[in-house]
Amino acid sequence: MNQHIARQIADACGRPFTPGPPRAVGGGCINAAMVLSDGDQSWFVKHNAADRLPMFQAEFEGLQAMAATDSIRVPRPLCTGSAGNAAFIAMEYIPFEGQGGGASAARAGEQLAAMHRATAPRFGWHRDNTIGSTPQPNAPTPSWIDFWRRQRLGFQLDLASRLGYGSRLADRGALLLENCDALIDHDPAPSLLHGDLWGGNLSIAAGGEPVVFDPACYYGDREADIAMTELFGGFGHDFHRAYHAAWPLDAGYAVRKTLYNLYHTLNHLNLFGPGYLSQAEGMIDRLLAEVRA
Ligand code: ADP
Repeated sequence: MNQHIARQIADACGRPFTPGPPRAVGGGCINAAMVLSDGDQSWFVKHNAADRLPMFQAEFEGLQAMAATDSIRVPRPLCTGSAGNAAFIAMEYIPFEGQGGGASAARAGEQLAAMHRATAPRFGWHRDNTIGSTPQPNAPTPSWIDFWRRQRLGFQLDLASRLGYGSRLADRGALLLENCDALIDHDPAPSLLHGDLWGGNLSIAAGGEPVVFDPACYYGDREADIAMTELFGGFGHDFHRAYHAAWPLDAGYAVRKTLYNLYHTLNHLNLFGPGYLSQAEGMIDRLLAEVRA
């Protein structure tokens, strides 16, 4: 497999590449990862089963889209392809120096706000991708409320029903979908989003430079990215202060935050099991109470 990958890396960068033994990299949730190096050039490579090629192609295009905004640093993608029974993505290898905080976190907030200034005519993206290993539909849609209702919450609620998570979640979820209009009471622009912005997808490179990676890009309400930074933590006050200074959020964010994070909680339920059921149901209950308030 590695020889096939090395040959495709050489083709993509237009110079010979004969790496030494791979260095395995841990920490990912979905894929196996390694660094291939010939002592001169080094590439970060993620691989998985052959049928995962579209997932890597979507990641490649997401990294390209974010890089094109020239805002927050992302690893430059080099190529994707098949190698034996595997599919892979190769990208710029960035030696990370930690998770960062302080000045780095503030820089990340400011730069993310700059990335969110990149907009498209409609919500969604030119292709579907994945969130974790769950499919994520992105059919372009003029209305953010319709997009969030059908392609985000509705999609995950249907999946939860098919996985047998019961009628209470289905019934309360259906009621929530009917009330999305009341809960999304602002008019966001379709901003380019990272889409999977938990703390594990932000690291710090030399000189304190923040880097985000492993995206699930689409054009959406920028608050969906910010909400996710608060779901699992890891971003901190300096990040949020700098983001708000660069581009304040609209009034009512606190309620929408729960609506946006419900998507990731449902995805965790569907990926990792019933440990997330009461959290998802509690979020729906809180949101429905807001509708009645
Ligand atoms: P997965 O798709 O399996 O979730 P990630 O993209 O999160 O994998 O990558 C796994 C780990 O590899 C990350 O936690 C990070 O520490 C490291 N990593 C990711 N991208 C790079 C890169 N371009 N250069 C160096 N290390 C990276």
